[in-house]
Amino acid sequence: MSRIRFYNTFSKQIETFEPIEPGKVKIYSCGPTVYSYPHIGNFRSFLMADLLKRFFEFKGYSVTHIMNITDVGHLLEDADEGADKLEEAARREKKDPLQIAQFYTDSFMAAAELLTMKPADNYPKATDHIDEMIAMVQVLIDNGHAYVVGRNVYYDVTTFTDYGKLSGNTLDDLNAGVRIEVNSEKKNPQDFALWKHDPKHLQQWDSPWGRGFPGWHIECSAMSVKYLGEQFDFHTGGEDNIFPHHECEIAQTEGATGKKWVNYWMHGRFLMFDGEKMSKSKGNLYTIQELIEKGFKKNAIRYALISSHYRQNYNFTFAGLKAAEQAIDKISQCVFTIKQKSKADSSETIRDEVTAFIDKGISGFDAALSDDLNISKALATVFELVKEANKLADITAAEATAIVAAIEKIDSVLGILEEADDSIPAEIADLAERRKQAKLAKDWAAADAIRDEIATKGFVLEDMPGHEYRIKKN
Ligand code: AMP
Ligand code: ZN
Repeated sequence: MSRIRFYNTFSKQIETFEPIEPGKVKIYSCGPTVYSYPHIGNFRSFLMADLLKRFFEFKGYSVTHIMNITDVGHLLEDADEGADKLEEAARREKKDPLQIAQFYTDSFMAAAELLTMKPADNYPKATDHIDEMIAMVQVLIDNGHAYVVGRNVYYDVTTFTDYGKLSGNTLDDLNAGVRIEVNSEKKNPQDFALWKHDPKHLQQWDSPWGRGFPGWHIECSAMSVKYLGEQFDFHTGGEDNIFPHHECEIAQTEGATGKKWVNYWMHGRFLMFDGEKMSKSKGNLYTIQELIEKGFKKNAIRYALISSHYRQNYNFTFAGLKAAEQAIDKISQCVFTIKQKSKADSSETIRDEVTAFIDKGISGFDAALSDDLNISKALATVFELVKEANKLADITAAEATAIVAAIEKIDSVLGILEEADDSIPAEIADLAERRKQAKLAKDWAAADAIRDEIATKGFVLEDMPGHEYRIKKN
């Protein structure tokens, strides 16, 4: 097997991937905070994890993927102070926080399905794991990493020597920039809340420290350990998760278990719009549903969001979405034309040059993605394969099958080709063939009449280059 390499935010280096268990990969992804509609920026990060997961499946690994749903404790500004995002939404929409969470979880799931994200094995909700969080906080108090002040519990960052290693934010640097009005309850300004007391908070639970609610970071530590064990391969998120969220997650989990927790940290750079990070707080966002309502195809949105390298910002534009539609069309036209051509010949040979360009396409795609998910290079090999396939004047059934199988294998990672619709009735296929003959005979009137007849029967005929056509259900 060729080497698979990834950039690890923790080491800040490209590293060769070694799974903890041979043939298996375990991935934890920070999921949505379900207080409003997820936007395409969020999905850029989620699709990075989807690409990673699909790539490992392509390589024959068995993947376990967990994505959490944050439905409590994520405060505005990602800090320890301020309103809970879920509560803000509940007040704004005059609903219960659980109703808010359910509504926006459903909206996230619907958009994820539109983008053909492979479902995670589990989507644990923070509010379903309060007991696990309390248990971990108790361990951290017992072993001296955390302390109780009144009915609040804080993590003492000075007890964790690796604090700052992921983000590069050392305590010295952070303390230098700290504001004067420090919360005096804390031993150190950078200590963060594990459990909070706030009589006004809408969601509260009993705990050994009184009624309260968990800090944001503890949910990912508790739930990832529950579902993936104390050590696993990948943790993913957007770049804004690096600090404080992931830095604090490491301090908590490793503080509690005493073991190295995650081997590879993968972070996606931001999706930008008009030069700014797309974000809920700025309001400069598009949702998947909005783009579909504007007439863009869901697979083009997916393509646009995955087609630039995850360690570079992606600048979202409508022109980019149009280009994505054209790119997908190129690939699906090739598949369609080849399927059509294959009907003409039943000979079962595959020429060496055909085998060669198929192998080159698959191995080039594999090698590119094995190199820290180099998607641009991977896509270039796909278009090279398509170009070679389009050049074939005559093609055997076996060749067509092999080319289509190769493109479908590649698409098991890209996830952009629509499900093939094989349910075109013979009568429609017959009419389409008669129309092609009419066009070849330059009998335009007959060709138009047949197209209309096909339309009245609920199908659309699209012309393709070289007198080929595509039939779709209307
Ligand atoms: P949230 O719902 O705010 O918890 O965010 C969910 C995920 O989306 C997190 O992993 C964020 O890092 C990520 N994210 C938020 N905004 C963007 C953006 N503009 N581009 C890429 N990822 C983002
Ligand atoms: Zn998280």
